[in-house]
Amino acid sequence: MSRDFDMRAMIRADLLDLPGYVPITPTDVLAERYGIAPESVIKLDGNENPYGPSPKALAAIAEERSYHIYPDPDQARVRAALAAHLDVSADGIVCGLGSDDLIDLIMRAIITPAAGSPGRRDGVINCAPTFGMYPFSTEIAGGRVVDVPRLESFALDVASIERAAPGAKLIFLASPNNPTGNRMSHDELERLLVTGLLVVVDEAYIEFAGTAQSFVPLVASNENLVVLRTFSKWGGIAGLRAGYGVMSPVLAAVLMTIKQPYNLNVAAGVAMLASLEDRALLDERACTIAGTRERLAALLSEIGWIAPYPSEANFILCRLNGVDAVEVKARLATRGIFVRHFDTPALRNHLRISVGLEEHNEPVVRALREIGAELGR
Ligand SMILES: *Cc1c(COP(=O)(O)O)cnc(C)c1O
Repeated sequence: MSRDFDMRAMIRADLLDLPGYVPITPTDVLAERYGIAPESVIKLDGNENPYGPSPKALAAIAEERSYHIYPDPDQARVRAALAAHLDVSADGIVCGLGSDDLIDLIMRAIITPAAGSPGRRDGVINCAPTFGMYPFSTEIAGGRVVDVPRLESFALDVASIERAAPGAKLIFLASPNNPTGNRMSHDELERLLVTGLLVVVDEAYIEFAGTAQSFVPLVASNENLVVLRTFSKWGGIAGLRAGYGVMSPVLAAVLMTIKQPYNLNVAAGVAMLASLEDRALLDERACTIAGTRERLAALLSEIGWIAPYPSEANFILCRLNGVDAVEVKARLATRGIFVRHFDTPALRNHLRISVGLEEHNEPVVRALREIGAELGR
């Protein structure tokens, strides 16, 4: 062993002080940390589906007998089922460990790692406030984050994106967007597609957007459009990691080659197939969650210091006026209610409350009213 081996000198310099993604904490860890029973935790911090997996998915996982065998690296059954479900070609579908895996794969396929000096690296346009995984994965892949913040309404600043496009290769957009809850219009997408960027639309929450149309049908006629979908929110299997992308078969073939061969595990694959079989139930639950969301938004808007934004997803972003969001979040946590807090340049003093079960609305609103009174509001 070399005595003066310097591990930090060995590691990629641009990764040494990377701030990293801020993940959410699972229920059992929260329960232990706050000394409360796991079953009394009201977990509204991760946009998870409070109804859990489809009963058919749970049964299929229990009945599966091939866990000792590696999964199919071609993901053939799942890709075929998704192709039939979406009416697209299976060779344009790639499945992964959640859509996070697809975000990472696309970055790695498109970005030349840390090419040139920091200012000359391949650019990825990021429209904050949005999902933190995009800038995180950009940095890991050796790309350069090109910030084009959203307008005050949280709509995309399409004119500024058009100006930034020549200096970038990729743009990632969530629609509905996390954490703001608003959707991108068809016209906005059309304008982005003519910039020549590879446009990745992340539809993690599309199933909660009522009659909103997915952009999946546009992929076949737009070589530079990729749509990401996930079973984490609609399918209630965030813990299994099951997502996919719909894209040009040219890009899909490369992602199939560079991905970890067994990235889609047997349990996730089985659960995806069974969830598709049970989609009527999952759609009905998404519809119920959207109804709960509207009732929660109405209750929140009655509280003077909370300004909820309209949402087409399974969460509600709230601006807090004259009350510190960190303090509110901490006081909710001592009551067993967990929400997410945002304090970034694009989003000062905000809370994001995931939509839970209908019966969660009342205790959440009551707790917020109590906390408001405690803080003199
Ligand atoms: C939750 C979420 C996802 C889902 O990620 P998975 O890896 O599929 O669990 C993707 N995109 C956005 C914007 C999200 O909020």
